[in-house]
Amino acid sequence: MIGQAITKRFLSRSIQRTVSLQHTKCLSTITMKFDKINERNSNNGLIKRTFQKTYYRRLASTISVEAAIPVSKAEMFCRQCEQTKDGVACTTLGICGKTPETAAIQDTLLEVIKSVAIWAVAARKAGATAEDMMPANEWTLRAAFSTLTNVNFSETRIAEYIRQGMVVKRDLVTLVKNKNGALPESSDTASLDLPDSLNPLQLEEFGRTVGILENSKCMGHDDANSLNEIGTYGAKGLSAYACHAMEMGYMDESNIMAPLHEIWAKLASHEPDVDGLLANALRVGQVNAATMALLDRGHCDRFGAPTPTQVRMTAVGNKANILVSGHDMVDLYSLLEQTQDTGVNVYTHGEMLPAHMYPKLKAFKHLVGNYGTAWQAQKFEFATFPGPIVVTTNCIVEPRKKYRGRIYTTNEVGVDGVQHIVGRDFSKVIQQAQQETLGFPRTVEPARFHTVGFNHRVVLPLANQMIEAVQQGHLSRIFLIGGCDGSEWDRSYYTDLAEATPEDSLILTLGCAKNRLIHSPKLAEAKLANGMPRLMDMGQCNDSYSAVVVAIELAKALGCTVNDLPLSLAISHLEQKAAAVFLTLLHLGVRNIRLGPRLPAYVTPNILKYLQENYNLMPTGDVQTDLKLMMAGK
Ligand code: SF4
Repeated sequence: MIGQAITKRFLSRSIQRTVSLQHTKCLSTITMKFDKINERNSNNGLIKRTFQKTYYRRLASTISVEAAIPVSKAEMFCRQCEQTKDGVACTTLGICGKTPETAAIQDTLLEVIKSVAIWAVAARKAGATAEDMMPANEWTLRAAFSTLTNVNFSETRIAEYIRQGMVVKRDLVTLVKNKNGALPESSDTASLDLPDSLNPLQLEEFGRTVGILENSKCMGHDDANSLNEIGTYGAKGLSAYACHAMEMGYMDESNIMAPLHEIWAKLASHEPDVDGLLANALRVGQVNAATMALLDRGHCDRFGAPTPTQVRMTAVGNKANILVSGHDMVDLYSLLEQTQDTGVNVYTHGEMLPAHMYPKLKAFKHLVGNYGTAWQAQKFEFATFPGPIVVTTNCIVEPRKKYRGRIYTTNEVGVDGVQHIVGRDFSKVIQQAQQETLGFPRTVEPARFHTVGFNHRVVLPLANQMIEAVQQGHLSRIFLIGGCDGSEWDRSYYTDLAEATPEDSLILTLGCAKNRLIHSPKLAEAKLANGMPRLMDMGQCNDSYSAVVVAIELAKALGCTVNDLPLSLAISHLEQKAAAVFLTLLHLGVRNIRLGPRLPAYVTPNILKYLQENYNLMPTGDVQTDLKLMMAGK
């Protein structure tokens, strides 16, 4: 077993910590005291903060992996994304803007997700049908999606997910009992029951007992804990992708939802089962591959097969406008229907850019173009957009006052004080666009365009041309440069790499990291000797499946493995969807991935060593050195 190999080879020197009963008692005493004081001083922020600091200081002082954290300042502990503070963890306030309170209540929600999953597994074993499982399936996907980076900052909304989750869980318990099914193994998570009467503050306090540090302490094994976190963040991303598919009416009970609940249930355990947790993480990759295939099918069935499409990247003047960001094409379609013949133009932003490649979306003439770049530029770009903005999924950044009154959220996205749309009724947004904004002052001419739509259905018919070009020496290498964008300066690595690639190479890109490439004048019009564009935009991160299909089919056509193709991968990661895609690549056995701009904070040195030895995972480095190695197939 791979896990045993890790254990033997790398974990023998790992410090095995045991959690003393005394320490456990110490923590419960702190928590109980905290609860009591909270009862008496529910509005006293100072006392609350003092206790939080004491709690985290005592907790973190026992955990070697967190030794580098300035615990005197620790009020929260989150390291689920790449932008985490100093590459270690956000401990006072999230770099994303997440407060300690939101972080804590999200930890409670995560515990409820695991509890529901345990009972969902039991319900299926007891013979529950796909119909029986629908409420648990839908709730799991939405709840998990709401905990992704830059999705939901609203404690009220998270508390509501928790309340709904407890209803779902109680129904599953009844279902298992009514069917005389076997009860799940007894555990704190399985028996979790948070009364509806708990307020958000109390739910936060519970979250502080089930966060990462607490789980790490219970696990008592850094590498097992690291694998648990890898699986958790991958499962969040997978749930988000499955949620996108569900929005289009697609759900696969046996190949996606049943294994997803098993994955979440496994993550509830504090057993330091390295083998099992490694297998669980790779299973996330496997189920995510099926999910992305379903999502790809859903998009095509609903909106037509993508075709290369030129998207206007400059303004059209003197019309009321609405900007739509995020990934949810169903929201966009609905808004386009509701704005038809209203005189309002619609622009895409960020991850919504590839919407223009779908025939049924681009058929709306008032979908006039794309405005802006990637999510991290929102504070500037949303402020200067003349019209209301709808954010359908990740990523949202805490809105500035300047546009707070004209930004709306849908689906799992939430920010307290920002208007949330339910049931895809965009009438308020449309009204605001018509009444309050005059639009862009003029149409920018000459217009600038970008071509989207290089889905696998478009690229694969070009496979023979590509193979011929490789064989004739006209195509030296294919680069896949994509993933997430972010605000760190060193993400310029991806622009520099793309611009440094040889003129006889092809670049496939996707995800919002494409914004690091598509505005490069050097690449915009570049073509290969056979007339093919050098830069092919495959779509959102949701379209990562396209890149996987192209690589697998090219390998088949050439009679080799994906790792033998003249293909180099430079992946820019940030949040948990990227973690799911990364696990899919590992599940497929893809090696030689360069991951940056920093490696995830939750990967321990031993697990990293395992990934390096088995998958040749590499951090991004110096562009010229990396490029030289890539051209040599390394
Ligand atoms: Fe920090 Fe990322 Fe967690 Fe936000 S989601 S608190 S930026 S680690």
